[in-house]
Amino acid sequence: MQQTKIMLEESEIPTHWYNVVADMPNPPTAPLGRDGKPVGPDALTAIFPMALIEQEVSAQRWIEIPAEVREALTTYRPSPLVRAHRLEAALGTPAKIYFKNESVSPAGSHKVNTAIPQAYYNKMAGIKRLATETGAGQWGSSIALAGQMFGIDVRVFMVRVSYDQKPFRRSMMQTWGANVFASPSMETNTGRAALAADPNNQGSLGLAISEAVEEAASRADTNYALGSVLNHVLLHQTIIGLEAKKQFAKVGDYPDMVFAPCGGGSNFGGVAFPFLADKAAGKNVRLVAVEPTSCPTLTKGVYAYDYGDTAGFTPIMKMYTLGHDFMPPGIHAGGLRYHGDSPLVSQLFHEKLIEAVAVPQLATFEAGVLFAKSEGIIPAPESNHAIRACIDEALRCKATGEKKTLFFNLSGHGHFDMASYDRYFSGKLEDFNYPEEAIKASLAHLPKVG
Ligand SMILES: *Cc1c(COP(=O)(O)O)cnc(C)c1O
Repeated sequence: MQQTKIMLEESEIPTHWYNVVADMPNPPTAPLGRDGKPVGPDALTAIFPMALIEQEVSAQRWIEIPAEVREALTTYRPSPLVRAHRLEAALGTPAKIYFKNESVSPAGSHKVNTAIPQAYYNKMAGIKRLATETGAGQWGSSIALAGQMFGIDVRVFMVRVSYDQKPFRRSMMQTWGANVFASPSMETNTGRAALAADPNNQGSLGLAISEAVEEAASRADTNYALGSVLNHVLLHQTIIGLEAKKQFAKVGDYPDMVFAPCGGGSNFGGVAFPFLADKAAGKNVRLVAVEPTSCPTLTKGVYAYDYGDTAGFTPIMKMYTLGHDFMPPGIHAGGLRYHGDSPLVSQLFHEKLIEAVAVPQLATFEAGVLFAKSEGIIPAPESNHAIRACIDEALRCKATGEKKTLFFNLSGHGHFDMASYDRYFSGKLEDFNYPEEAIKASLAHLPKVG
């Protein structure tokens, strides 16, 4: 019988995270303050515990995963590596297709992989409350669960439009004990100002980040937690790629290409960086970040210093950006609607060690439905981006007869996104044009550096 799922024992969960900084040809750029000077670790202690700040700036190749974190991760890890035999057959491709199934976490996505260590390190530092933002609700659910596991109160600023459109994500966070506020909210100065200017403000991820950071910075018992972008988040996510490498070794295979959806870059970094270690050692493997054509940060953005949030509270980071006040079109892959990208992913893209492609919304849903019909799992709209790019490559292999090994990260399931699938089925889902004018306008507001 052919093997479909490649499993690991709990004892095979990696003991260390992999830090890609150790294998980068150039040291990572430092975040800068408003004065244009590098932000030292001290400036971050108002909102992050020291253990995470140390990880943020570490150049050490391997960083040990605390036993308590590994234990908490056994709730759903190791996650399966799956050979997509049925998808291969449906496509008639000679390529082999594998995916890592991160949808098995209780919150339904890879984000729990970093929520657990973040809650743990904050607990160890004596923090009682975490403030955070969420767009589509994936991150909010993950940190709500992790907060519950480690006895920390979680306060989530949820982008207004999602708060109204995704009531069940909200209920999920409440089930795990979190307080959820529609953002802009009346809880912070930023939120009150936004509502005073426009009572119908639908919110944005950048604005919700500003609210959460404001709350964390103004209270000693409260820290901030971010679900993507930062170095320590990508570090925690490398558990995906590290497990995958063990799983590939078990079946004597290795990917020619790795695909992952890319919003802030955490699941891409998580799955791709451990393979980049092999690439740095001379192995031939292509790493492809997949983004929406309507929010094309890597493929159409500029590599420049910019804020991580709309209000400009965060340090400025060198990254591919569309401008911190760019409002991406309302695509259904909420997790990919971010103006910037992880500085590590950005630098590696700039140095041509990784690749990026952009795919349009309708084609991603078409790919997701084909995947669901052949493999059973209904993917998150974000994951559909990676599936689309992987299928496109599998079809190229069909045309050329190449027997490549393709691998993508199924970052999450789409059980809370069925309204988006409904719109696709009823023909109401649209492709957005590349928002050239809006991006140009926003790029004019980049902070001036140097
Ligand atoms: C948040 C999210 C993403 C995008 O975020 P990254 O930080 O780029 O990984 C992708 N897929 C799912 C399911 C998500 O929840």
